[in-house]
Amino acid sequence: NRQVAFAARPDGEPTAETFFIREVPVTALESGQILCRNLMVSVDPYLRLKMYDRESYTPPLEFGETIPGRSVAQVVESAAPEFKAGDLVAIQGGWQEYEIVKARHAERVDPALANPVSWLGALGMTGFTAYGGLLSVGQPKEGETVVVSAAAGAVGLLVGQVARQVGCRVVGIAGGSEKCARVVSEFGFDACVDYRAADFEQQLTEATPEGVDVYFDNVGGEIAAAVTRRLNTFARVAICGLISQYNGQSDSDPKAMEEYLRWILVRRLTIRGFIVYDLHKNHPEFTEVMSGWLREGKVREVFQRYDGFEQIVPAFLGMLSGKNFGKSIVRIAEP
Ligand code: NDP
Repeated sequence: NRQVAFAARPDGEPTAETFFIREVPVTALESGQILCRNLMVSVDPYLRLKMYDRESYTPPLEFGETIPGRSVAQVVESAAPEFKAGDLVAIQGGWQEYEIVKARHAERVDPALANPVSWLGALGMTGFTAYGGLLSVGQPKEGETVVVSAAAGAVGLLVGQVARQVGCRVVGIAGGSEKCARVVSEFGFDACVDYRAADFEQQLTEATPEGVDVYFDNVGGEIAAAVTRRLNTFARVAICGLISQYNGQSDSDPKAMEEYLRWILVRRLTIRGFIVYDLHKNHPEFTEVMSGWLREGKVREVFQRYDGFEQIVPAFLGMLSGKNFGKSIVRIAEP
């Protein structure tokens, strides 16, 4: 069983040296467990947060720990009545070839409902983050303007499409004119603004003529500050992620916090951070609704696909630096 494990805490951006690959034997099954072979694994930004030795919503990685992550896997051997060899499951499989999990921790993947890869995308943690975070925390209403950052990424593309289903005007923010053009032409956003452009704030103002009612924040930092200045009275901010700070970048403006608090008061803002698992109980309808939208073509997903176990680390590093369009996944075995 080949595994990618944690080697060293990075100072700034992670590199190949942050990880090491090892091989260990597969252990024996106990009653109630299933042995799964990972077919495709997810690479996610929160792993960068786990590389710090500090308090967070998820514990720090220990040296030598196998890197965690969701996977779609095939059951190889079962010691549980719920599954048989050959079944497809979504599990906490980690960056490795095989994992043993308790059957009750495995979610059945039903290929009749959607393509199995969707359990890492629109039907998985990514999709639920977008759907639950937007609807429960952002609370958009028809006709309102929703802005989402990291709009060309996994969560962002889905946030915009869910907001369109609600009947909102949707404005994305992403890095580079090419990404922005695709977000609009292929995913139905009303506009998408390139945060690297010299006149970014001017473009954001033009794209939000009636201000912003909901900001789904994936990045924080100066992009969030710019959107805050566009927020309407009683606007909602759903803080999903702060990827612009994950490599330890600091906000250069010491007055930024004062300015932020001032806008919270002046515009009577509701600002709420959330973690995907806080929201599950709010949305029992999620899988049915989202799989319906996928089948009807109302929501589209796109994957940045990598092939081969050796590509897991490059896929992760590429995603952190914005080389992806849509959800990054690595296929490591065939069913
Ligand atoms: P993405 O697919 O969006 O990939 C990350 C993207 O972040 C890159 O493509 C890049 O796009 C953008 N990015 C990287 N650095 C910066 C920067 N300095 N400034 C602005 N944008 C940057 O990843 P996910 O969709 O998986 O995650 C998006 C966000 O959602 C992350 O912050 C993540 O932590 C958060 N998240 C939170 C969850 C929760 O429960 N709260 C659950 C899942 C995700 P570009 O080219 O546009 O810069």
